[in-house]
Amino acid sequence: SASIESGSTLPKVLVIAGSDSSGGAGLEADQKVISAHGCYAMTATTALTAQNTKGVYGIHEVPADFLRKQIDAVVEDVGVDVVKTGMLASTGTIEAVAQAIRDHKLKTLVVDPVMIATTGAELLPNSAAHILREKLLPLATILTPNVPEANTLLLEVGQDQHPVQSVADLEALALKVQKLGSKWVLVKGGHSPFRKDGTEAKTEDEKEIVVNVLVGPAAAADAGTKRDAEGEEKLQVVKIEMPYQRSRNTHGTGCSLASAIASNLAKGMDMVPAVKAGIRYVDAAIRTAPGLGQGNGPLNHFH
Ligand code: PLP
Repeated sequence: SASIESGSTLPKVLVIAGSDSSGGAGLEADQKVISAHGCYAMTATTALTAQNTKGVYGIHEVPADFLRKQIDAVVEDVGVDVVKTGMLASTGTIEAVAQAIRDHKLKTLVVDPVMIATTGAELLPNSAAHILREKLLPLATILTPNVPEANTLLLEVGQDQHPVQSVADLEALALKVQKLGSKWVLVKGGHSPFRKDGTEAKTEDEKEIVVNVLVGPAAAADAGTKRDAEGEEKLQVVKIEMPYQRSRNTHGTGCSLASAIASNLAKGMDMVPAVKAGIRYVDAAIRTAPGLGQGNGPLNHFH
């Protein structure tokens, strides 16, 4: 029948992440974003959180062997085009996810290295960051850290913290993180807005733009060989700029961007346009946010 035929071409995204009871971040946001992109969302739940726009009041972790059962169940029946990971909660969970991805030979993986919520709650213990780096980053198609997460991942390899005071600093940070093993890295600049000329914003009024830096393999046309004269992989650096929005409604922006990118990849888009479209989508979702709750409110996913 027509429904079976169209179902077989529906892009399928599996999200491995935590639930946000307030619906603004985590699995709940992911499913809204994936649906809004015309894709089919499936979930493997790593943890439940008791949460609202003001904070995280509890975390209840799902045992790693049960998480593995959820992944196996959907992969073996429905099938998965793209996997997106969000809050992973513990080292045991990260190890189970990496093993499942290898066992099922899942090829396209978007990793949002969720560590600390905007409200300050720890969603991954700091001590688990090195397991994330060692086990999951080598399997990732794209990693989407914000500046604090990028710095935490680098700290584990003995690097100094990288203060980001200019667009050049952000680019240097993205190039360093890309060396950790993910094919592509998008360092999100939302935590360090700049003035229009790309220099540091010293006051609230000077915050004019947000710059996101995408680093990955050079495009086939300019790559020729994949290595330069020194034997280093040829890379491209793409800067994606957006106007800075002074908004309290940014809850779940990270989750939403990674899910938008995952959906675009599942629909067959190339990485650079998939990321650019994802950033535009989140920008509009903040701009048209419904303004719910008293704290850091959710986005609008149906704009
Ligand atoms: N809760 C869960 C379950 C999440 O996965 C995330 C995000 O990554 C958050 C909360 C944090 O969202 P935000 O920092 O945007 O408030």
